[in-house]
Amino acid sequence: MNILILGGGGREHALAWAALQNPKCDVLIVAPGNAGIAEIATCADLDINDGAEVVAFAEEHSIDFVIIGPEAPLAAGVSDDLRAAGFLVFGPSQAAAELEASKGFTKEVCDAAGAPTAAWARFDDAEGAKTYVRAQGAPIVVKADGLAAGKGVVVAMTEAEALDAIDDMFGGAFGAAGAEVVIEEFMDGEEASFFVLCDGLDALPIGTAQDHKRVGEGDTGPNTGGMGAYSPAPVLSDEVAQRTMDEIVRPTLAEMVRRGTPYQGVLYVGLMIKDGAPRLVEYNVRFGDPECQILMMRLGAQAFDLIHACAEGRLAQARVTWADDHAMTVVMAANGYPGAYEKGSKISGLDRIGEDSFHMVFHAGTKRDGDRVVASGGRVLNVTARAATLEAAREAAYRNVDSIDWPDGFCRRDIGWRVLS
Ligand code: ATP
Repeated sequence: MNILILGGGGREHALAWAALQNPKCDVLIVAPGNAGIAEIATCADLDINDGAEVVAFAEEHSIDFVIIGPEAPLAAGVSDDLRAAGFLVFGPSQAAAELEASKGFTKEVCDAAGAPTAAWARFDDAEGAKTYVRAQGAPIVVKADGLAAGKGVVVAMTEAEALDAIDDMFGGAFGAAGAEVVIEEFMDGEEASFFVLCDGLDALPIGTAQDHKRVGEGDTGPNTGGMGAYSPAPVLSDEVAQRTMDEIVRPTLAEMVRRGTPYQGVLYVGLMIKDGAPRLVEYNVRFGDPECQILMMRLGAQAFDLIHACAEGRLAQARVTWADDHAMTVVMAANGYPGAYEKGSKISGLDRIGEDSFHMVFHAGTKRDGDRVVASGGRVLNVTARAATLEAAREAAYRNVDSIDWPDGFCRRDIGWRVLS
């Protein structure tokens, strides 16, 4: 099979690595890819948000199956263009990708489906939003309706903070994404993520994870795209997972079918769990990055078959074979991230790490400069390990972090602290 993966981060490196474990994979092209992906697949320079360009490329290279990694091409409808041209695709339609692209849309779907989530209201003017906040009081959560790369959410502990956030959003801080604002009840509890493959109506859970969004140790400092993650998430017990399927995922999928926009792809279910009861925080319409890296490592060779079965609508017959293992990924980022950082610093020592099905360094923002690997983004490497216990996975991941020589990079040393301390 000739496979095209769209994206160029650690998530897509992990997807490419998983595809290559499977004998069905003959040709693997990743667009745009990165330095790590280039070692295992062909990289292509392509505007992945341009449906016509992706279709033309797929035709030219006789692609049989396209896996879409990031949300931007999904929100842009690239999956629809590919399907219309007859390609098999993993990833939801543009209409179904609204579950990530619009927070108000997700809330409407939850209400129609009866899925537990925070009480909410949507506003297109600052005065209405402020009146609502004053009536509700703090803590309260203010969100730009559209995609804002993780920055469009303010968890306001005071009313003044919420009112400022409303001014910022309607003042254009997030462009068109903030033209509408969703205000939500603050939910207390422990956050975890639940990943489900969906092929319309059938759904198959493929793992749980918890991540660390803040840049600083002890979960302090500004938000990032994620500084590390581990799987499984102990708070997401089998009972909580079952409730999540029954109360949130299946009713949502049924509502999407009822609307004529069935959901196909991976559904990333962000949960707040309190006293064993899950409530939905958000949906994402793609794998998390870096959660994908640990899920792929735990699923191993079966990952590609599951993704393929999902795209072909065969999930009813698919099963996951679970190993009693744990995985952790530690993100190495460029000094300064998530603020300003330098690009181009040299990374060495990667060849000291013996990569196998237990230890991998997935590349995110890297590129090749002659025979050297250099940093080309904020989050740069995902040092990932799998082991029988989370302690052992952590030890292996940090041992590999320590063999990498990159003076211009840093990582958090406390990934997994909530579970391990
Ligand atoms: P963006 O749209 O900017 O990419 P996002 O999709 O990451 O942001 P959310 O996941 O909805 O936004 O919110 C980000 C974080 O804010 C959550 O992971 C959670 O920690 C916190 N949060 C969001 N909603 C609530 C809520 N109702 N109660 C408590 N915390 C919340």
